[in-house]
Amino acid sequence: MDTDVIILGGGLVGATLALALDAHGMTSIVVDPADPAVMLAPGFDGRASAIASASGRMLDAIGIGATLGGQGCAIRHIRVSDGLAPGKLDFRPADGDGALGTMYENKLLRRALFDAATAATQVDLRMRTRAIDVVRGPAGVTATLDSGATITAPLLIAAEGRHSPTRETAGIPVARWQYDHAAIVGAFHHEHSHEDVAYEIFYPAGPFALLPLPDDEIGHRSAIVWSVKGADGPAMMKLGDRAFLAEASKRMGGFLGELTAPSPRASYPLGFHHAARITAERLVLVGDAAHGIHPIAGQGLNLGLRDVATLAEVLVEGKRLGLDLGDPALLDRYQRWRGLDTFMVAAATDTLTRLFGIPGKTASAVRRFGIAAVDRLPPLKDRFMAEARGESGTLPKLLQGLLV
Ligand SMILES: Cc1cc2nc3c(=O)[nH]c(=O)nc-3n(C[C@H](O)[C@H](O)[C@H](O)COP(=O)(O)OP(=O)(O)OC[C@H]3O[C@@H](n4cnc5c(N)ncnc54)[C@H](O)[C@@H]3O)c2cc1C
Repeated sequence: MDTDVIILGGGLVGATLALALDAHGMTSIVVDPADPAVMLAPGFDGRASAIASASGRMLDAIGIGATLGGQGCAIRHIRVSDGLAPGKLDFRPADGDGALGTMYENKLLRRALFDAATAATQVDLRMRTRAIDVVRGPAGVTATLDSGATITAPLLIAAEGRHSPTRETAGIPVARWQYDHAAIVGAFHHEHSHEDVAYEIFYPAGPFALLPLPDDEIGHRSAIVWSVKGADGPAMMKLGDRAFLAEASKRMGGFLGELTAPSPRASYPLGFHHAARITAERLVLVGDAAHGIHPIAGQGLNLGLRDVATLAEVLVEGKRLGLDLGDPALLDRYQRWRGLDTFMVAAATDTLTRLFGIPGKTASAVRRFGIAAVDRLPPLKDRFMAEARGESGTLPKLLQGLLV
C-alpha cells in the first residue's frame, strides 16, 4: 500500500503532523505500538502542557482547536522569581495583545488528537502495530509491519519520542546529558484564584512551576512541574498527600492559600538531547525524536509542533510542485528552517536551568539583579514574550493560523 508519508509514532507530535497533512489533502500511515486503551486512560499522562499561542493557532487551523475549546486555561501573565526573595520578572502582555498561551491537560490533547486522527479520511492510523523491517533506499521507503502488511512511501518520518530507534538505526549522532533533576508532576486545588498567572519559582535544587488550569467542580486548580534533586525523587513520590501539600505550600510561600485535593503524582527523569541532524536519506525527525529539553519553560512540545508546521509547509509545497517528497532539497529546507530555532531554544533552556541551579547568596543576588534589570527593559521583555508565544523567527503559515 502506498502513501505520501509513513509516520512512526502517533504521540502528540506524530498525530498532529498526520492531521496537518490531512488538512492539505495529503495521506499518511501512522504506525504506533501503543494500545489506545492504555494511552487514553485517565492515569496514563497526568501532565499538562502550555500550548504557546502560535501552536494554538495551528491547532485551530487544522480543526483541533474547536474540540479543545473552553477546556484550557489561558496564561495571561508569567511571573519569574528567584525563590521567594523579593524582586520578580513579570511578563504581562498589554491589554488587547491576547494570552501568552493556553494550558491543557495532556489527557485532553491526546483524546482530541486520537479522535481526529481516527476520523480523518487521509490518516490511516495503525495502533498496536510495529514496523519490524524498514528499508530506505534511492527509490523509496518500504516498511513491513508485524500485522503482515507492507507499506511504501517516498518519505519516512520518525516521531517516536526521545528513544527513537529509527534515529539510532540511521546512525544520527545525538548530544545528550542528564540533569540531576526529577520532575514531580501533578495538580492540586487551592483556596485563591490563580488569576491566569503561571509562576516559575527557581530554587537551587530545581525550579518549581505552577501552571494555571481551569476551575473544576472542587474549585481553583493548578498543575505543577516541580524539579527536585534526582536522589529526592523517590522520597517525594512516597510522601503522603498532606506532607506533599505542606512542602509545596512552603515553596509557594502560601500565596494561593490552602492547598487541597491533589491529583496522583508522577515522576520524570529530566535530560537534554539534541540530534546533530534531523534528516537522512528519505528520513526526517520531528518532536522528541529530534530534541528534548528541560520542561523549565514549557517549550518541548511547542518545539515539536513548530517542527510539524514547518515540515507540513515544506511537504505541501513540494507536492504541489510535483516533487518527490524524499527529495534531498526539500529535506534540506526543513533542516535549515528548524535548525536555528531548536538550537537557540535548547541552549537558552539549558543555560537557564544551570544559571538558577547555582547555590549561594552571591549567585542569588546576581540573579535578582538580572531579573530586576530585564523587568525594566520593555524591548527585551517583548522578545521573551514573543519566544513564549512561539512567534520568533520566520513563521510557517500554520503557526499564523493559515493553511499552506
Ligand atoms: C515533566 C514534563 C513536563 C512537560 N511540560 C511541557 C509543557 O508544558 N509544554 C511543552 O511544550 N512541552 C512540555 N514537555 C515536553 C513534551 O511532553 C514532549 O516534548 C512531547 O510529549 C513530545 O511528543 P512526541 O510526540 O515527540 O513524543 P512522545 O510523546 O514520546 O510520543 C512518541 C510516540 O511514539 C511511539 N513510539 C515509540 N517507539 C516507537 C516505534 N519504534 N515505532 C512507532 N512508534 C513508536 C510511542 O508509543 C508514542 O506514542 C514536558 C515534558 C516533561 C517530561
